[in-house]
Amino acid sequence: MRVGLFGGTFNPVHNGHLAVAKEVKDGFPLDRIIFFPSAIPPHKETKVVVNADDRINMLRIAISATPDFSESFAISDIELKRSGPSYTIDTVYQYQSKMADDNQLYLIMGIDAFFEIDTWKSYLELFKIIPIIVMSRPQNEQHFNGAKWKTLETFIQSNISDDYEYSFSEKKYSHSENMPIHIYDVTPIDISATKIRKRIKKGMPVQPMLPPGVEGYIKSKGLYT
Ligand code: ATP
Repeated sequence: MRVGLFGGTFNPVHNGHLAVAKEVKDGFPLDRIIFFPSAIPPHKETKVVVNADDRINMLRIAISATPDFSESFAISDIELKRSGPSYTIDTVYQYQSKMADDNQLYLIMGIDAFFEIDTWKSYLELFKIIPIIVMSRPQNEQHFNGAKWKTLETFIQSNISDDYEYSFSEKKYSHSENMPIHIYDVTPIDISATKIRKRIKKGMPVQPMLPPGVEGYIKSKGLYT
């Protein structure tokens, strides 16, 4: 099994998350994707992040609403069960120790998250233990124009290692000691949780950015107002 680990704040989960996950799952391809919301996001302002139960409930609603998603997507509370802030490296080690050896794990993230990776705990070690799939994202479109993905390459060389070699046919960076970094062009979807939260606060409509049921949940709980 090829399993993708997709972490995030999911504050709230939106159609961008679901669409890119589906695209990577079908196209990369992967057998399964596990969404794992973070407990106390070390990189986010905690005051705007609603509690973990609400974020996980919204993920459950989002995934169960579509049969296609409920078959191939799972939700994990692995980071919510640990005390203190969420560190991806700890999550990856936890998954590697509990999953059968014939499972290949991949860490999935958008390029905006990747560009912050050098602030993550033990990030250099992370590149040694798990292959990463970096997805494009419209807010970072400038990185894909002209010399496509060039900014990403510069980032990799200056912050991770200059020993990576890129293969155009395989769309991946290989390294003698580190695991590969795959790049994946997803159909651009200009949705972010920030945009959704701002619109809710202003009383503006948020459809079609949210999965069925999630808007109702947000309204019933009075979140983001
Ligand atoms: P916020 O606006 O609060 O920062 P977000 O929309 O970026 O939230 P997160 O939960 O922080 O959502 O994202 C989880 C992961 O999903 C990150 O790796 C992020 O890059 C990726 N992601 C989110 N939305 C998209 C999108 N529209 N296209 C590609 N990747 C996305």
